[in-house]
Amino acid sequence: MSLKFYNTYTHTTEEFIPGGVRKNTPADYDAVSIYSCGPTVYSYAHIGNFRTFTLNDLLRRYLKYSGYKVEHTMNITDVDDKTIKGANDNGLSLKDFTEKYTNIFFEDLASLSIEQFEHYPRATDNIDSMDDIIERLRNKGLVYEKDGSLYFSIAKFEQYGKLSNLEKRETISGARYDADEYEKDDARDFALWKASKENEPSWKIKSMDGGRPGWHIECSAMVRKIYGKTIDIHTGGVDLIFPHHENEIAQSEAAYGEPFARYWLHWEHLLVEGTKMSKSKGNFYTLRDLTEKGYSPRAIRYLLLSAHYRKQLNFTLEGLKGAESSLEKIDNFITRLNSVNVEETNRNKTVSDAVELYLKDFSESMDNDLNTSGAFGAFFEFMHTVNPLLDRAISKEDKEEILSALKKTDMVFGFIFSDTKTIDAELEKRVNTLIEERKQARIDKNFKRSDEIRDELLAEGIILEDGKEGTRWKLKK
Ligand SMILES: [Zn+2]
Repeated sequence: MSLKFYNTYTHTTEEFIPGGVRKNTPADYDAVSIYSCGPTVYSYAHIGNFRTFTLNDLLRRYLKYSGYKVEHTMNITDVDDKTIKGANDNGLSLKDFTEKYTNIFFEDLASLSIEQFEHYPRATDNIDSMDDIIERLRNKGLVYEKDGSLYFSIAKFEQYGKLSNLEKRETISGARYDADEYEKDDARDFALWKASKENEPSWKIKSMDGGRPGWHIECSAMVRKIYGKTIDIHTGGVDLIFPHHENEIAQSEAAYGEPFARYWLHWEHLLVEGTKMSKSKGNFYTLRDLTEKGYSPRAIRYLLLSAHYRKQLNFTLEGLKGAESSLEKIDNFITRLNSVNVEETNRNKTVSDAVELYLKDFSESMDNDLNTSGAFGAFFEFMHTVNPLLDRAISKEDKEEILSALKKTDMVFGFIFSDTKTIDAELEKRVNTLIEERKQARIDKNFKRSDEIRDELLAEGIILEDGKEGTRWKLKK
């Protein structure tokens, strides 16, 4: 069986062929290009956001498991109404304010065992790429200016609405359109570039003396800058299909005259205690709210992955307790396996059959549009078969085969083995060297490099703390 995804763009389940041309094995393809819409860094992300981010991680991990190379990007939106307001309310520069929440975000990702992606571009570092795409659209007559803002004229992009399957009349009615305080010619048009008000940060682009980017242009610009061509997979939560992803497609395809993305994967919503999350209902959780209640990030990851991504997940504290007790069973199983008596004895065919069945069921489920509930089922079936065999001594080869199947599949699950990183001399030396390099980068005002170093370390679970006496570091618990 080959890997299949439900592609929102074609509204069908399709075989995954990176680059659009079939090759013999996954290793023969160029790195799979993936773009995932990232967070706006003005506050703590909530558990619904983390379903999205954990599923992005699942996708990249399974591609790697299947033998593909991966080049994955997630943008950091560090300029918009909310970040500007947050910075002003806190008396901080936009950079300092958003850096604080970017750090928190990366810490949260690391504690959920979300792998580090290849690129995390910030919007404010990429104004030049946005300028480039706006210029192209202007030259094609697709842009008009009104009161200091630039708008994309949707009437001139005929394919608009293909992703979300919206009838033209529905979009014209404006009933589902995002509210925008600026004046537009047509209710569907969206701002590429926004006039900035007083006390707001402002950038110069070729066609405007000041202003700031609209949200949609950011993603189109980053994709082009990093990949320079049609990408393989674009992901995001279902709430982004319209208008955000529809607008990304319109801008990019109009500007560059080629398809924007081959496969669109959209992660379904998360409900909390059976209803939409909201602060007033008291069911709004950040990751830290849950860890403060004593739940482990590992159990949260487990629960977030347990349902298929195209189904709504009802996240409950009861469910989280259930996840904790499943992990306890897994831990007991691993302890038993690690301490089982090993003897010079013949191999047990039950073991090799169980391993073979497990790996087959695991990949068949995951190949089927990332069916995690099937993969979870395969794992528990395997544990159920192997557990009684550990009552007696087993052969060294059998033990190794079981462990290797578990380690292999944990490349995707990321919760079977609990990670206990320890500080050793080598780690200490490496981290201190990076801290020195970061210090120099900051002196040189090379904030891109200093951010990179911090992000790299965070992805490994190492937190930097800048203080008066310099930078200290610690391992995330
Ligand atoms: Zn986006």
